[in-house]
Amino acid sequence: MSLLDDLYQTVILEHNRRPHNHGALEPHDVAQEGVNPSCGDELTLYLRLSDGTIDKAAFVGEGCAISRASASLMTDALAGLDLAAAAALAVTFKEMIRSGEVGEGLGDLAALQGVSKLHARVKCATLPWVTLQQALASLGGQAGSDS
Ligand code: ZN
Repeated sequence: MSLLDDLYQTVILEHNRRPHNHGALEPHDVAQEGVNPSCGDELTLYLRLSDGTIDKAAFVGEGCAISRASASLMTDALAGLDLAAAAALAVTFKEMIRSGEVGEGLGDLAALQGVSKLHARVKCATLPWVTLQQALASLGGQAGSDS
């Protein structure tokens, strides 16, 4: 099964087995829950900010290998990004999952490129990113910067 070979690359298996940034983050600035009912994946994403930059991202949850690897890789990638860069990365990642084309700046996240060929797994890979977008939206509302 070459599709599965593509999909379950070493990096995905490693991140599933030993996810990075796994565990509740205290203190945090935002905690956002996400659910993918089609697979049963659930996660809570935590972000801690410092001067408008993501100081640390972490997650807890239960899910399949793809969702866990995506959350692990995402939380690695978010550290040190400002909120605009994090939002842009989410768009670039989701575009890769949609089109199969690896955009600029994705780094290790390109390991999930093969998911674009497996429609049943798309929501697993994008769940952490959709949750991130919700978290960023709630932070934007909190800041109330347009006063
Ligand atoms: Zn899943």
